[in-house]
Amino acid sequence: MKNKDNKLIVVLGGGESGVGAAILAKTKGFDVFLSDLGTIAERYRIQLDEESIEWEDGHHTLERILEADEVIKSPGIPPTVEVMKEIAAHNIPVISEIEFAGRYTDAKMVCITGSNGKTTTTLLTYHILKEAGIDVGLAGNVGKSLALQVAREKHKVYVIELSSFQLENMYRFKANIAVILNITPDHLDRYDYKMENYVKAKFRIINNMTPEDAFIYWQDDPVIKAQMEQLITEARLMPFSETEQPGSHAYVNNDNFLVFDTPEERFEMSRDELSLQGLHNLYNSMAAGLSACLLDIRKEDIRKALSDFEGVEHRLEFVADIDGVRWINDSKATNVNSCWYALESMHGPVVLILGGKDKGNDYSEIEPLVHEKVKAIVCMGKDNSKLVDFFEGKVPVIKDTHSLQEAVDVCNELSQNGDTVLLSPCCASFDLFSSYEDRGRQFKEAVKNLIK
Ligand code: ADP
Repeated sequence: MKNKDNKLIVVLGGGESGVGAAILAKTKGFDVFLSDLGTIAERYRIQLDEESIEWEDGHHTLERILEADEVIKSPGIPPTVEVMKEIAAHNIPVISEIEFAGRYTDAKMVCITGSNGKTTTTLLTYHILKEAGIDVGLAGNVGKSLALQVAREKHKVYVIELSSFQLENMYRFKANIAVILNITPDHLDRYDYKMENYVKAKFRIINNMTPEDAFIYWQDDPVIKAQMEQLITEARLMPFSETEQPGSHAYVNNDNFLVFDTPEERFEMSRDELSLQGLHNLYNSMAAGLSACLLDIRKEDIRKALSDFEGVEHRLEFVADIDGVRWINDSKATNVNSCWYALESMHGPVVLILGGKDKGNDYSEIEPLVHEKVKAIVCMGKDNSKLVDFFEGKVPVIKDTHSLQEAVDVCNELSQNGDTVLLSPCCASFDLFSSYEDRGRQFKEAVKNLIK
């Protein structure tokens, strides 16, 4: 029951962020109730019990939820579901875990968003800071819940991956460094199919920034560019670009050297030194390197960390070289834009595995690169008709497969010395797999079995 003198915090969603938020709320002396419509994983239930936090799963007890003084909503819950409508009708404030955690820490916040490259850039930034000896925590979509770390570990700097869903319920939170990598259509189903709503959600990352804070963004991105023209912010602007543009603080010069140029630090490094290759990773390296410059990390440390970062699973991950054929797992490419960057970085003929759950994709974006580099498309999904209709006649070979093993076998037959087999499916995985990680792992296993 609610203690009348105490504020009740209701947490909706019992995953990493919800459980972390509940623990922080409890630590700060609030009454806490956590409710999840689905099933809460065993490890989280144990954690909640250990902390004596009241919780339920499988249903929402509305009367209890509506007693809340404030609701902390997990990012996966759309604002349109019944329980959220009720909460709104009762004028109960709803915030995100990040907003809540931000109230209880003075740590420096490096916040990273974008349609693609968030996880890579977040991990790369974290790697640079960690290697430089900074007391840094990793949070948001990757790593541990920010709220849990604020309650227990108290780092001096946090690198936080923020999706537009998380940004939606942030109001007073302030990033010290905010990064927007790029904006291309994604998740539009959550935004009334209006791009402008999605763009607005992304730009919430710079809310409340002051002249001491910095905003790092990709200035060649047409969507970001258009938004910057109508935007007023006090933050220092730190854009980056492939080639030097007015205002660029990171770019590639005519000698193919990556230049970082900020008042805090100025240095150059050869593009070949970067451990992550491909144009998209150049941008990610620029964003991470600029963040590190602004945090006064020494250039020697930045350069070293940018060149020894090991990469991230399921993102253009090298799996094996079998008889001269390179197999690459880019299972995280769940939209067309990330597949574009994967293809852009390929050398030599490509056998491309596409397919899965289509989110309203427009494949014309990759058509020129497919024409230039792809010798065969292997469709892998429950229903491949849209892909087959689109690419039929546009590539020398197109195959229709319905399981991972079948797809890998077909790729094996079609590929020869010098080719790359690339899993970069443009689609979500839920038709045949439980997640993109599951798809990527099964792919790697099937490829490794080819060696035996
Ligand atoms: P996110 O966390 O935003 O989903 P990831 O780092 O997990 O991003 O990468 C997702 C996919 O996008 C991968 O296939 C990756 O190769 C591709 N990618 C990574 N960085 C970028 C970028 N800056 N622009 C476009 N695509 C990218």
